[in-house]
Amino acid sequence: MRKIAFGYSTRCNIRCAHCVAAEETPDNRKMELSRAKEIILEMAEAGVRGISFTAGEPFLYFNDILELLTLCHKHKIYTRMVTNSSWATSPEKAGQYVAILQEHGLCQLRLSYSRWHQQNVPREKVLNAARSCKLAGLDYFISFVTDFSEPDDVYEQFLRDNQLKFFPEPVIYAGRANSFGREEIFTDYQENQCPMNPYLAPDLNMYACCDAGSHFKGTNFFLLGNLKDHSVEQLFTKSETEPLYNCIRTMGITNIASFAGFKAREIVSYRKCELCKKLFDTPETLKHLRNKVTGELQKWTR
Ligand code: SF4
Ligand code: SF4
Repeated sequence: MRKIAFGYSTRCNIRCAHCVAAEETPDNRKMELSRAKEIILEMAEAGVRGISFTAGEPFLYFNDILELLTLCHKHKIYTRMVTNSSWATSPEKAGQYVAILQEHGLCQLRLSYSRWHQQNVPREKVLNAARSCKLAGLDYFISFVTDFSEPDDVYEQFLRDNQLKFFPEPVIYAGRANSFGREEIFTDYQENQCPMNPYLAPDLNMYACCDAGSHFKGTNFFLLGNLKDHSVEQLFTKSETEPLYNCIRTMGITNIASFAGFKAREIVSYRKCELCKKLFDTPETLKHLRNKVTGELQKWTR
């Protein structure tokens, strides 16, 4: 099933220290509404069945997003909205917003939550938003971004105490979080396969990975192209047929790193996206992998 993270705008009303969506300078790019509608129609045509309206903060363009949700609903596209919950100022206000979103066909709300968000959005607002979803019967979950350190225990406990549905999600050390200090880690040699859903940025660049993919500036490995020059169908097809992307989906980053000559001891000391960057954002390593991808690399299986 084709799915995409749709970055209508990168503008946000808060500034989290860990945000991957922006570097130090404020980034307030936004798509034209009329162009966004054309793109959604083209996506429906190309068989896209899921759209996640993602960071910046979609509520800053609430009326625009409602129009886009209506369009998706009409074309039977599943919709998710990612938000920081700053709008959920009281249970009543949260209930009103959730009702409007439901009327316009939203399928799921994803509420971002972390100790960094807390510096701008008190957790009670996340609680208001989640409870309103529960009351209205709108699917939701809380994306609990964490570096797995002890200070996060209290934030996790808050979610448990309030019986909220949540999923921990590792900080991605890109964007503003790139400057964070990080603990050494040792994984147990997981395969690290990624489904790789594409991401569309407001400037209409489309990337093959919606997480840290747009930050691979050394090689632009994940850049599929721009919708000014290519159709939605062409860029999805590229994402689905590029041999190295398919190796990430099937073999996983760990096996590719091993093939590329990384020591096992070294591989277990990397976070997934960091290992990915090491492999694919280094021109020489990427060139080597591209040369081998249809031959030796694909045979590097058990
Ligand atoms: S709410 Fe999301 S988009 Fe806004 S600054 Fe925080 S992490 Fe970034
Ligand atoms: S490891 Fe690479 S492909 Fe997977 S989520 Fe991270 S940047 Fe994307």
